Amino acid sequence: MKAERWKRFITVESSENIDSKRKKSVMYFFTYIGGTIIFYFAFKTPSNDLILKLSLFATASFLYINAIASIFHKNTALASQITGIAVIPLVLAVVYTGGYADTGLYWAYPFPITLLVFFGPLRGLFLNMVMFVAIILMIYNPEYITANYRPEEVVRFAPTFLVNVTLCLIAEFFRSRSHKELSSLNLDRLKQANTDVLTNLPNRRFIDSVFMDAAKNDQSGHFPMTVIAVDIDHFKKVNDTYGHDIGDIVLKHVARLLRRNTREMDVVARIGGEEFLIIFPRTSNETGVIIADKIRKIISDTPFLDNDLEINVTVSMGCTEVKKYVFMDDAFKIADKLLYQAKANGRNRMEEVVVN
Ligand code: GH3
Ligand code: MG
Ligand code: MG
Repeated sequence: MKAERWKRFITVESSENIDSKRKKSVMYFFTYIGGTIIFYFAFKTPSNDLILKLSLFATASFLYINAIASIFHKNTALASQITGIAVIPLVLAVVYTGGYADTGLYWAYPFPITLLVFFGPLRGLFLNMVMFVAIILMIYNPEYITANYRPEEVVRFAPTFLVNVTLCLIAEFFRSRSHKELSSLNLDRLKQANTDVLTNLPNRRFIDSVFMDAAKNDQSGHFPMTVIAVDIDHFKKVNDTYGHDIGDIVLKHVARLLRRNTREMDVVARIGGEEFLIIFPRTSNETGVIIADKIRKIISDTPFLDNDLEINVTVSMGCTEVKKYVFMDDAFKIADKLLYQAKANGRNRMEEVVVN
């Protein structure tokens, strides 16, 4: 389903955005703190333990290079996953060599949570299991590794590691679920505040705060802009003749026609009872008036039909161009004035003027 237009303007962080920021922060912390600790151990490891010393140096350097490179290529999602993958060979090397005085197995415990954070519950679990199987193969075949683990350590490893993975998985799973719930709750609230329940169009508040902010922050992306005030003609008569409920359906009919005949980047808002505002960003008056008048004709040529009922609806429009953000308030007032001129001049018509 196509995302609703108003959402494009809302700088609400989607749950994905927040999550990728979290991964990015974890990645940088992991690199700068974890990488530094790994460097420290690399220096401390005696030179006769060459595999371990080199693995530690290689991983720490790799983590740093990866984090610094991500500042330039900006693909922090990729950088986070590289970080996650990079620690697996290090853990395996530490387990293989035994690290300091055959304590290597302990280093397997901090990493399940990192893999779950970087890769999410499913892929994180898979990678943890890969790491687990590799470690099990090593510790149950001691003749192939240089470490010398005590038998009770070997036996205890599987249950304790699996409990660790399970607890991390549960914590990560529920964190991610509640995070998504909060995020959708936030979006529901924003939708309630910025849209109109009847027509689903953005409302006046959306224009006044959200859209105005967007226009202010990205002036070249919005100006010149065509602003059109729209009001349904003799709408009171529709209500008086057919009742308020039919009046509501006719309002939806007009809203649908306005939406259908504008582009995704355009804004169509319901700013009052039977009043709408159309905004064509990056559109000068010459083009704007042509499209607006076409929409006006479409509305008058498309009666509302429901079984035997046929209601002709027309709208009047006031259309103006605004070149700069500072003139937007003036432009709304001018569009309104022009709309009332259109009403005075006989309705089902458009009046236009260029300002600034
Ligand atoms: P004009 O051509 O001058 O605009 O005439 P009009 O009848 O459209 O204008 P007027 O302002 O006199 O009446 C607007 C009517 O719109 C009055 C009000 O009952 C109706 N209206 C406003 N909001 C709603 C709504 O949400 N649903 C329905 N059914 N009617 C509404
Ligand atoms: Mg009206
Ligand atoms: Mg009105």
